[in-house]
Amino acid sequence: MTVSERNEKTGSTLISGTVWRNWARTVEVRPTLVARPTSVAGVQRAIETARARGITVKAVGAGHSFTAIAEAPGVQLDLTRLTGLIDVDQARRRVRLLAGTCLRDIPELLAPYALAMENLGDIDSQSISGAISTGTHGTGASFGGIATQVVAALVVTASGDLLRIDENQNSELLPALSLGLGALGILVEVTLQCVPQFVLQAVEQPERLDAVLESVLERAAAVDHFEFYWFPHTKTALTKSNTRLPADAHREPLTVTKAYLDDVVVANGVFRLTCNLGRIAPAAIPGINRMAEKLTGNRRFTDLSTNVFITRRTVRFKEMEYAIPAEHVVSALREINAVIQRRGLRISFPLEVRFAKEDSLWLSTASGRATVYIAAHRFFREDHREYFAALEEVLRSFGGRPHWGKMHTQDAESLRQVYPHFDNFIELRDRLDPERLFANRYLDRVLGA
Ligand SMILES: Cc1cc2nc3c(=O)[nH]c(=O)nc-3n(C[C@H](O)[C@H](O)[C@H](O)COP(=O)(O)OP(=O)(O)OC[C@H]3O[C@@H](n4cnc5c(N)ncnc54)[C@H](O)[C@@H]3O)c2cc1C
Repeated sequence: MTVSERNEKTGSTLISGTVWRNWARTVEVRPTLVARPTSVAGVQRAIETARARGITVKAVGAGHSFTAIAEAPGVQLDLTRLTGLIDVDQARRRVRLLAGTCLRDIPELLAPYALAMENLGDIDSQSISGAISTGTHGTGASFGGIATQVVAALVVTASGDLLRIDENQNSELLPALSLGLGALGILVEVTLQCVPQFVLQAVEQPERLDAVLESVLERAAAVDHFEFYWFPHTKTALTKSNTRLPADAHREPLTVTKAYLDDVVVANGVFRLTCNLGRIAPAAIPGINRMAEKLTGNRRFTDLSTNVFITRRTVRFKEMEYAIPAEHVVSALREINAVIQRRGLRISFPLEVRFAKEDSLWLSTASGRATVYIAAHRFFREDHREYFAALEEVLRSFGGRPHWGKMHTQDAESLRQVYPHFDNFIELRDRLDPERLFANRYLDRVLGA
């Protein structure tokens, strides 16, 4: 790498880009320039440079989106030096974070204040800004995705100006900016509404899929965080039911050895084995899945929320996930099963089924409706196209909305049909970024050029 420009005063270093790849290896790009600002002024300077050169600028988080949403062919804004806690409003349990802060670091930053994030997804490798910008979510029929925890933000717009959004200023923009696909501006600060630290009691067990489906909405409503995995070609669901308890509740965490055995050796190891075996001998997949269902998912433990929400993912995969109205969960899964059978597909990865409450963010996959998420995965070396296309057809027929960070084939025209606020978002984009400084080919597809 050659240093092409350095400006210590504004906290910005610009270097010529080398090849960047996302986690799933589905996107590869060589940015013209990479900026690693250490201050808000550094972000403004990078934007100024992009404008002066007539190239686009895009913030990148941890590169954990499966889609090309973070692809930055012009100036790639790497915010890994713009991280940490700015301040805490203890009375209101609100924390202001620099936008590049990694989710993994947040529990330690919040611990001195006995605070926690209300809900999380499966992993914590993402940046806070990347996670909210694509609508990253966990599970829980009474809980929203991470972007619903955002109560204020500071954004650098395409003109280089600062736009503060909080309850007193520009509050009407929060439902767009807190889940903005990186299309409206560069987040430099994010304020989260936190909750008192809490413990989760986890019960993970295999159950008959039919029995789970019989009362799935009741199950999702009865426990704080309910989800299940279903290995195609089996009749078993691996359910996870997490109940929130006060921080001083008795804890029975997994021992380090047990956690290692379960997560690394059994869960990820079995997956790796099934994926590799499945590639060599697809006909063996149903038998392998039956073995996997027996080896995984039968444990109880109680631990701090983050230690329960977060799991290890060491097997690389590709993922598509759709949000549909919660009431269609059973019909959609039955239809997916039928499609897999009809086409004779051999699928080694489980489907993951999660829940979220309705929210009011304009481009949230749970906007205006209680939601179930159905996620399909394929080993990263496998061809995902036939499987994902078949499921996408099913899930779209239920009014499905694709996760913005996971693979799908929809475009602005079809997405406009499923998002009542789609045109409000486009109008705001026209206002904040009329020259499409923050565009890339993915945003051109899903929002229109
Ligand atoms: C192993 C794995 C597990 C996952 N688990 C879940 C899960 O449980 N639930 C779920 O919903 N998703 C999950 N995802 C998807 C993932 O959470 C999202 O794709 C998320 O956006 C990735 O965050 P990131 O920091 O890597 O962002 P990136 O992918 O790098 O970027 C995503 C978007 O955020 C924008 N962005 C980043 N920083 C800024 C900023 N400062 N200002 C403006 N825009 C910005 C980028 O421009 C881009 O548009 C998973 C992904 C992987 C690979």
